[in-house]
Amino acid sequence: MSNHSEFDLIIVGGGPAGLCAAMYAGRGMIRSVLLERGVTGGELLNTEKIEDYPGFESILGRDLAKLMTDHALKFGADIRQANVEGVTRREDGTFEVTATGGDVYRAPAVILTAGGTPTKLGVPGEQEYAGRGVSYCAVCDGAFFKQETIAVIGGGDAAVEEADYLTRYASKVYLIHRREELRASKILQQRLFANPKIEVIWNKRVEELIGGPTGLKELALVDTVTGQRSRLAVTGCFIFIGFQPNSGLVKEHVAHDASGYLITDDRMMTSVPGLFAAGDLRVQVTRQITTAVGDATTAAIAVEKYLAERRTPAGV
Ligand code: NAP
Repeated sequence: MSNHSEFDLIIVGGGPAGLCAAMYAGRGMIRSVLLERGVTGGELLNTEKIEDYPGFESILGRDLAKLMTDHALKFGADIRQANVEGVTRREDGTFEVTATGGDVYRAPAVILTAGGTPTKLGVPGEQEYAGRGVSYCAVCDGAFFKQETIAVIGGGDAAVEEADYLTRYASKVYLIHRREELRASKILQQRLFANPKIEVIWNKRVEELIGGPTGLKELALVDTVTGQRSRLAVTGCFIFIGFQPNSGLVKEHVAHDASGYLITDDRMMTSVPGLFAAGDLRVQVTRQITTAVGDATTAAIAVEKYLAERRTPAGV
């Protein structure tokens, strides 16, 4: 049987942005609920070690996830396991959030923090060595590969830019692309070709990631033209073959860019009044834990003001 629950704020997603928004909502005495389909922590749970979150020189992703969850709970966060299927705006301007099983949550404000998902290669070994050589974030994990030989997969702006970035740590970076022409912008390509630490491997597809108890050791490659197979010894493999923001949950038109990232104003409000977005699914220059919690702080405080204005319209 389905349940209907009324709140002032519904937070969709339990990664760093969602947990931070829940913590602020609790402090602000906002009647809120956080809906997360799995375990709270989001991308933190896919990250082994974090060394760029101020105050923590080095912390395991799962430990930071637990600390953030505990912190939100301490300030009264109501965290529920629910797989959100859709967010719909009703005629009176409030939102209805529906979850698998038919549960319905209603509130005048929603903060979407559902993040996004890096596109996976979908080959054997990718999941097994995630966090033990395989990464989807150069800024997060690059420093773990000092003086090592690593590979970057992809031929778009992200792969080319991050390959260049990773040479500040790695002694050698192979950029592996499945064609013989890069999709990346010319200026990024120029920088790539001028970098002596980078070697581009053309027309190769990764077939398998191979390793052992200590982590990734080599890549099995296949030539996309000749079909010839080869091996490449690397201890790191950074995969940048696209990223999908989880913005499809909203059932009406919300302003977004060509890749589906939601456009917000400086309060983190989207083009739909009362619908806020924070973290990885928002259009922005970079996607870090620090930017996610920054967005969420702004969004939660802006929601407080939005709710107060709804209760007392201007001029009353
Ligand atoms: P993208 O432009 O879609 O490029 C994805 C790359 O991955 C392509 O080269 C594609 O190869 C390759 N690829 C896709 N699936 C693959 C697979 N299964 N196996 C191997 N290779 C695969 O994605 P992106 O680089 O993440 O960029 C996304 C958007 O963000 C773009 O609009 C980009 O301009 C923007 N961006 C901009 C900057 C910047 O301006 N500094 C930095 C990062 C991202 P093919 O080329 O053969 O299709």
